[in-house]
Amino acid sequence: MKPSATREPLPASIAPPATSKLPGVGTTIFTVMSQLARECGAINLGQGFPDFATPAGLLDRVVHHLRDGANQYAPMAGMPELREAIAAKVLALYGRQVDPVSDVTVTSGATEAIFSAIQAVVHPGDEAIVFDPAYDSYEPAVTLAGGRTVHVPLTAPRYGVDWQRVAAAITPRTRLVIVNSPHNPTGAVLDAADLEALADLTRDRPITVLGDEVYEHIVFDGARHESLNRHAELREKSLVVSSFGKTYHATGWKIGYCVAPPALSEEFRKVHQFAQFCVVTPMQKALAEYLTTTPEHHLGLGGFYQDKRDRFLHLLRESRFRLLPSAGTYFQLADYSAITDQGDVDFALRLTRESGVAAIPVSVFYEKPPAARVLRFCFAKDIATLERAAQILCRI
Ligand code: PMP
Ligand code: GLN
Repeated sequence: MKPSATREPLPASIAPPATSKLPGVGTTIFTVMSQLARECGAINLGQGFPDFATPAGLLDRVVHHLRDGANQYAPMAGMPELREAIAAKVLALYGRQVDPVSDVTVTSGATEAIFSAIQAVVHPGDEAIVFDPAYDSYEPAVTLAGGRTVHVPLTAPRYGVDWQRVAAAITPRTRLVIVNSPHNPTGAVLDAADLEALADLTRDRPITVLGDEVYEHIVFDGARHESLNRHAELREKSLVVSSFGKTYHATGWKIGYCVAPPALSEEFRKVHQFAQFCVVTPMQKALAEYLTTTPEHHLGLGGFYQDKRDRFLHLLRESRFRLLPSAGTYFQLADYSAITDQGDVDFALRLTRESGVAAIPVSVFYEKPPAARVLRFCFAKDIATLERAAQILCRI
């Protein structure tokens, strides 16, 4: 199937049925590129996942709880000890006192949290604002809720938000603004002034904010992550989502969480309890212990990935790729217009098949892709892998 966001008509043989609820959607670009990378034996710098081991101490706790019998349903909102550990982290990092009982819900990854949040908030006919290039799961969830996604482009090369464009996009139907910081795919981060602008625009309006903060610990160059949880006004109208997958090099566990004030959490849980009901028990118990005993892991993540980013940039310094600023996440954008005029989907496919390095074309995250020719590389890989990939990329 075609990558989901190429938005051209599909050939009749693979077109979804006329009754499809998501007629423009195919298989996600992450699936397409990872499958192709496997088929071609290519180095996979496409789909974002680390190749570092999950911390041994955390694995030990999982094994302990598996053997110790923690193998039945967890409470619907999450294990109390994990919710308490999350609340303690939110207080320590962002100065926000949240009630673990009413305000914290453990979810099946950030994906489920985002989906449940959108279903909980968006009514038919409502509008949700997203910033392009936008992570691919937002729009389909809005569509399934009967809403309309309004796309506001970020401004290259730093991919900042133009708040005047946001102001112009707000209508009486706007019900949700989805912000993602640090931002996938660009690596841009929101600063305190951005949060002020968002607070100004949503004040006295029936607008909820969804904060996708799955890369909250991966911020570089001394900047601090401006969580919605930090902002006294915004946090009262926000659902803030994060994921342990990024933090513990364990994307396959699919455990995330949503922090929101009681009334929003109540609506969120109405959806969560039927989308998922509850999340894998032994992992929750293990994460609760690890989060509490080993805060140095998440506190060290920014430095860990900044080294990777810098190594990757250094390795590519002689290439014909122009490397764009990456202020957070484990992604690096690269402009390849000095290499070819080919569109980014075709170039990414060719790079995987012919050169053996898979990347993600950025145009698929846009409603109206700009003329820029940009690929996203994931640098969450060991140095030997980055070196092998860079050797190839420097020859192109
Ligand atoms: N949001 C963003 C911006 C992401 O990059 C990802 C996954 N990489 C998710 C949400 C989904 O996270 P999870 O794997 O925990 O479902
Ligand atoms: N979020 C990951 C990325 O951006 C992939 C998640 C997925 O495969 N759905 O690469």
